[in-house]
Amino acid sequence: MDGNRSNRSGRLTVITGPSGVGKGTLVQRLLERHPNVWLSVSATTRAPREGELDGVSYYFHGRERFSALVESGGLLEWAEFAGNCYGTPREPVELQLQSGRPVLLEIELEGARQVRRSFPDGFQIFLAPPTYQELERRIRGRGTDSEQAIQRRLERARQELKSQDEFDAVVINDCLDDSLRELERLMSLS
Ligand code: ADP
Ligand code: 5GP
Repeated sequence: MDGNRSNRSGRLTVITGPSGVGKGTLVQRLLERHPNVWLSVSATTRAPREGELDGVSYYFHGRERFSALVESGGLLEWAEFAGNCYGTPREPVELQLQSGRPVLLEIELEGARQVRRSFPDGFQIFLAPPTYQELERRIRGRGTDSEQAIQRRLERARQELKSQDEFDAVVINDCLDDSLRELERLMSLS
């Protein structure tokens, strides 16, 4: 990690971090301020949460459709997370990169590792919570997951938090406005 590095060389940015750390919240704030940034819409086998729309939040697929995508090479990366599959559709990412737009992927750790291999020039950011206790408070406070899902996500979080050194930059999501400014700086948007 080097706090002074930023993303001048590549247009592909990956943001990873444990469930509940605030990735979705931060990314939405970034997109409001920078509509030119293109956020990849992932495919998932997870059931939609209240308010989530197919094709906007995710492409919601059954297991068979998801497996067909994997087998046809249609996903840039994919991983299992807390009992569901998630993956990045390949073609739209390639098209957006060709068009020169900054492309953002918000994905979990295993996917980030796969993207690191296929896009070594991409810039990878880890969003970390101020403390583990605060992470748990946020996951519970969000109120979208069952107790079993929360336990699986917290267990996974313990593993993910150990991977921070693999990343080009670590942003601690304490004050959301500070994190937004830091993300803008890292993506050379400000
Ligand atoms: P993720 O996408 O990483 O799973 P969310 O964006 O859904 O996380 O955020 C989880 C919860 O934490 C939400 O209730 C959100 O409002 C809250 N949250 C996000 N960022 C912050 C922050 N900097 N300080 C306090 N709460 C936050
Ligand atoms: P959620 O179910 O909370 O929306 O997402 C669970 C986890 O899956 C989050 O860490 C999120 O970043 C990750 N995720 C979302 N889309 C993808 C994807 O396309 N690929 C991978 N590998 N992870 C994803």
